[in-house]
Amino acid sequence: MDTIYVDNNATTAIAPEVLAAMLPYFTDQYFNPSSMYDAARSPAEAIEQARQTIAHCLGGVDPDQFLFTGSATESNNAALFGTVQANPQRRQVITTAVEHPSVLEIGKELARRGLDVTFLPVDPNGELELETFIKALSSETLMISIMLANNETGICYPVAEMARIAKETDPRIIVHTDATQAIGKLEVNLATHLCHVDLFSFSGHKIHAPKGVGALFVRRGTRWRPFILGGHQERGRRAGTENVPYIVGLAKACELAVAGVGDEQIRVRRMRDRLQVTLEESIPAIEVNGKGARERLPNTLNLAFHGVEGEAILYELSRHGICASSGSACTSGSLAPSHVLQAMKVPFTAIHGSLRISLSRYTTETEIDRIIQVLPEIIANLRRLSPYWDDRNNCLALPDDPAG
Ligand code: PMP
Repeated sequence: MDTIYVDNNATTAIAPEVLAAMLPYFTDQYFNPSSMYDAARSPAEAIEQARQTIAHCLGGVDPDQFLFTGSATESNNAALFGTVQANPQRRQVITTAVEHPSVLEIGKELARRGLDVTFLPVDPNGELELETFIKALSSETLMISIMLANNETGICYPVAEMARIAKETDPRIIVHTDATQAIGKLEVNLATHLCHVDLFSFSGHKIHAPKGVGALFVRRGTRWRPFILGGHQERGRRAGTENVPYIVGLAKACELAVAGVGDEQIRVRRMRDRLQVTLEESIPAIEVNGKGARERLPNTLNLAFHGVEGEAILYELSRHGICASSGSACTSGSLAPSHVLQAMKVPFTAIHGSLRISLSRYTTETEIDRIIQVLPEIIANLRRLSPYWDDRNNCLALPDDPAG
């Protein structure tokens, strides 16, 4: 049975072009880029070339503003803790209730350390209200950290506009965005619409590079302090011998991802839309989480099925070779409902039956056909076993529901 991989917001397959670009730095070009002999020049130059490629892909900004990290989680930690450490005079941090845990947990830790942390709520469509954001800004605001796109629902946030508002309110407010899910799916330009963003995190393994490499953009002039201390690598901004093959892979992946934002993502969106519409037609009591949002990532479909458990759906899909997820991969180890869907107030009867399907440029129409064929049957079978499902009327029948 062939595997159908539709969990690309969790991680992606390594692109063959990326692997090919990396291989020489595992074999012949293994030298430490900081060494003084001639042989080490090639890996050292490869790192600088990678920095230039990434800077070019993200708006033609100055490459020196990028530093390589081990993950988006590390980039987010460096961005937030590095800003807080460099600016002890201000005490307020504004973020959202729907961030990835690698920002959310830092927010909670900063609150424990006595900072005033605001977690902006979202409405049932998953949208942030600009009015609430504007009201939260104060003379104490040190930084804002707002993700460009949500990993669970694909909902996109108006970071460019929020950054502009923050800078107009007070140019000293530092703006961070977690762009991990946005690169390769949305237009991302640090010279034009994101020109007010000071710190920008992303990761390799969401764009067909390996796991364990990321980058952080720190705009020149930002009051920020390095987070990992030690050697002089990355001009003293991130110590540790550089992971040359992975850095080269990240740059190649970035190039391919950004080139695909046009036609490739239009094709992905069409497949996602066809999947969504067909499932909505063929499955009763289904919700598309985030459907009412102004903008969603083209590759992401977050569904909720009343009266069934997400884990049971995943198990059944897996028996058909289909890899998807319920909630996010980071939280799916626990049975707690997703914090993102909770923040959106997804009804109790549906929140446990959520399923995230996330496509990539390698997803095919045939794979979408297979999901369309298999999923309605899985849901119907699971509902037949559910004490809360009224099979005759094809609806949810809770014990206190008069219809039940
Ligand atoms: N932010 C977002 C929005 C993500 O989706 C992820 C990965 N799930 C991360 C941060 C963390 O990325 P990494 O696995 O590279 O640490």
